Parts: sequence; C-alpha cells; structure tokens
Amino acid sequence: MSRRAGRHFLQIPGPSAVPDRVLRAISAQTIDHRGPDFAEVGRTALEGMKGIFKTSQHVFIYPASGTGAWEAALANTLSEGDRVLMYETGHFATLWMKMARRLGLEPEFIEGDWRGGADPDAIAERLRQDKAHEIKAVCVVHNETSTGSVSPVADVRRAIDDAGHPALLMVDTISGLASIDFRFDEWGVDVAVSGSQKGLMLPPGLSFNAVSERAMEVSKAGGMRRSYWDWQDMSGPNGTGYFPYTPGTNLLYGLNEAIAMLHEEGLDRVFARHQRHAAATRAAVRAWGLEVLCARQGQESGVLTAVMMPEGHSADAFRATTLEHFDISLGNGLSKVADKVFRIGHLGDFNDAMLMGTLGGVELGLRKAGVPHQKDGVRAAMDVLDEMPSPAIAAE
Ligand SMILES: *Cc1c(COP(=O)(O)O)cnc(C)c1O
Repeated sequence: MSRRAGRHFLQIPGPSAVPDRVLRAISAQTIDHRGPDFAEVGRTALEGMKGIFKTSQHVFIYPASGTGAWEAALANTLSEGDRVLMYETGHFATLWMKMARRLGLEPEFIEGDWRGGADPDAIAERLRQDKAHEIKAVCVVHNETSTGSVSPVADVRRAIDDAGHPALLMVDTISGLASIDFRFDEWGVDVAVSGSQKGLMLPPGLSFNAVSERAMEVSKAGGMRRSYWDWQDMSGPNGTGYFPYTPGTNLLYGLNEAIAMLHEEGLDRVFARHQRHAAATRAAVRAWGLEVLCARQGQESGVLTAVMMPEGHSADAFRATTLEHFDISLGNGLSKVADKVFRIGHLGDFNDAMLMGTLGGVELGLRKAGVPHQKDGVRAAMDVLDEMPSPAIAAE
C-alpha cells in the first residue's frame, strides 16, 4: 500500500489521539514495579487521578479496559441476586446492564429512547416504590458515547436522596472524565468508572474506579466473589504507591504526563474547549440539514456528536468513503442505531484547526458519498468558533 501523507484524523469518540508529550513519556524504559523508583510513579498517578475525579476519597487503577473497571465496580459492592436500577441511555448502558445480569445481579432497566441522558424523575419514581430497599445500586452512564448525550448526575443523586433511598450511586464516566465536568465528591457519587483512552488522551489499557468511603465500607463486608478486582487487595500496596500485581508501568508514565497537561491548561478551560467544539459541530450538522441524535436540549455531549443519516443512506458506507478519501476515522453507529448514525469525536487533545479539518473532511465525505446536504456546515462551525471566545486565548 502506498504511503498516505499527513496525519490520520482519529475522530472516533475514543480512543482519542495521543499527544506527542504523552507518547514520549510512555516510551521511557520500563522499571521494576517493586523497586524504589516506582513508588513516586504510582503515588503521583493515584493522587493525580483524585484531582481529576475531584475526590478526596479512594481511587484504584487497573491494567484493563474500561469494561474491567465496570466489573470491579459491581463485584466489589454487590452480591448475587441484588437488584440494581439501570437506565437505558444507549449501547454502553445496555452493555453494563448485560454484564450485571451475567454476574448474577438482577438489573431493572428503565427504558430510554437513546436521545438523551438518564431521567432523574423516572429513577426517583421507581425508588419510591421500592419500600423494602431491595435496590442496592443505581447505575447511570455520565456521557453515553453511543448517542452523544449526558446524564445529569447531580440530579440523579438528588433523586435518590429525595426518595429517602439508601442505594449506592454508580456512574460510568469512561468517556466523560477529563472532557466534561465531573465532580465525584460534590455530586455524591459512590463508585465512578473511567478509562484511559478518551478524555485522558492515553492509549487504551488503563481503567479506574473512584470509590466513596461508604462504598468502601460496603465492599469490606460484601460484594461478590472476586480476586483480580478486589479493592482491599489494591488499597494496601497503593498506600505506598505500589500495586498487588504488575501495573501498566509505561501507561502510568503517560498518565502522569496527561494529568500534568490537563492542569497546565486548567480543567475548566479543558471543559470549555470541549463545549465550544461541540457547539460548533452541532452548528455544522444543522447547517448541513442533518439531525443531531441527542434531542434533549442541554444534554448534548461535549465529547462527541452523533449525527443521524438521511433515510435511505448508509452511515457505514459514508464513513468508509470519508476514511478512504480523506483519511478521517469517524465513529460508527452501535447496535440499535447501527448504520443509521455516525459519530464525530471532538475530545482529547484537539484544537480549532483540527475541528475545521475534521468538519471539512466530513463535508467533503458527504459530497463524495452523494449524501443530500447543504454546503454550509463548515462555515456555520466557523461562525461559532469566531463568536465564542476561545478559552485558551481568553485566559491569557
Ligand atoms: C468506551 C466506553 C466503554 C467501554 O470501555 P472499554 O475501554 O472499551 O472497555 C464503556 N462505557 C462508555 C461510556 C464508553 O465510552
């Protein structure tokens, strides 16, 4: 195959492009994870992730994809037969529900239309009916990566409290963390799940649990049979910066670099940058005459935008054309929306010019694939970028 000039645009909503600084950090020689030099690496990563989750409670790091940390969240706190209330925001919420079922839990799945976040009122209503407190946990996806919708996590906490219900609140923020606002302690989350390859700008391979004191207590006496995922096994060695088994040493170098970069930019500016790029992308979609999948105003994701394909046109054929001609990878539609939507990732290490390149490539792809559209998307996005101050410039 002949070489393709220029950088590939990896515009799927995770893995996101890895910054050169992070790649360089990862390329350092692997060290003895039980030797004296490792403690600093481990401690910096564990403490650093507390800052990213905005918690003063517990954080655990697994050499696993996000799915592993999903399992860790459930296995440490819940026992076979326990009821859990989950909300169908999209494909990832559905996968987490299926995992709960396979682990022997009894998930109740509140149906959703895949066009918005979890509905706190529906959760409160179900919890109020549960007078015997059989539901042990409420699980929601913060940023539903299959649809581009955000759940109001703080409102879900309020719904649980207003119903006077003791259920734990578990949140999948695998794609939300470090891209959009997330506040573990302030929002009263009990267990949060995240992964390395989305907002954290790392390659895949690390995942995280943030854990409240309350969930930690629950796990000491309860949970299901587990070994690899056990928080207690982790917390001993973690106290001095070590792990019970071989950690992802080089990914931890990268993680410490990524955390430093996020603070150099400022988390609030990182979040504002994502919101601004999302607003510009939505403007482009509307100007093309296409529809954004998220239909709930205020719940549109800063991480990605899922775009509905016009009737009779294949989203996957369009994505293949865009990849072939313009070297841009766009996200596919998953399960219920397979071939019906494509997803534009605008997360991670990303700037205005990269967004223009991405949207320019999408618009060219629409032309090339013969998808009916108006040719005004890129210009509409430019207008938004021009009107909304750049958080990076405003800070100077
Ligand atoms: C990516 C993602 C997952 C799956 O994570 P893996 O690292 O692929 O195991 C789960 N939930 C959400 C919301 C995601 O974005």
